[in-house]
Amino acid sequence: MDLRITEIFLSLQGETRTVGLPTVFIRLTGCPLRCGYCDTAYAFKGGKKISLDEILAEVKKYKTRYITVTGGEPLAQPNCLPLLQRLCDEGYSVSLETSGALDVSAVDTRVVKIVDLKTPGSLECAKNLYENIDYIDAKDQVKFVICNREDYDWSVEIMNRYQLANKCEVLFSPSYQDLPGTILADWIVTDQLQVRFQIQLHKILWQDKPGK
Ligand code: SF4
Repeated sequence: MDLRITEIFLSLQGETRTVGLPTVFIRLTGCPLRCGYCDTAYAFKGGKKISLDEILAEVKKYKTRYITVTGGEPLAQPNCLPLLQRLCDEGYSVSLETSGALDVSAVDTRVVKIVDLKTPGSLECAKNLYENIDYIDAKDQVKFVICNREDYDWSVEIMNRYQLANKCEVLFSPSYQDLPGTILADWIVTDQLQVRFQIQLHKILWQDKPGK
């Protein structure tokens, strides 16, 4: 059983509830979306076919128990599901970063799902699969990457419509190149919004270097 992999590397988790923790990232190749702010376009093509056993062997070289499966869009490869299951079976604390455009219903229930809901500013808002919300629970996180005030207002409306804050943690991130973090932070404080504000730690530390 093979997967097409762009890179496997150790870094610090830059986002989510485990921010700052040493984490092994498994970046799967390919994505059916084309978000305007995408910072991993290098993962759209190429990569290398690697067997599940080889991936496990690579991951075992590192000491951390935190693994993030990311992309691209990892769920675009059907073998992502057995990979997630196997990592959980091995005792790792596994998270999945997914675009929100692909069905998450078959993802192993032990996996922490980080599900994007694409804002209008991403240019891929029409691809959101809102049925995914039915498969999100308290350990998961829904993420909005916000490019401007329209995105912010849209995200608040979606959050309220689906009662997201009652289901899981909600993450609001400024789009790195589009919106200064302080502006988004001020909006959240003014509105007393029950969300977690986050800035991508890895961008501050290492800018956009692949493998970081
Ligand atoms: S879903 Fe993620 S990887 Fe795919 S285009 Fe959007 S930001 Fe890039």
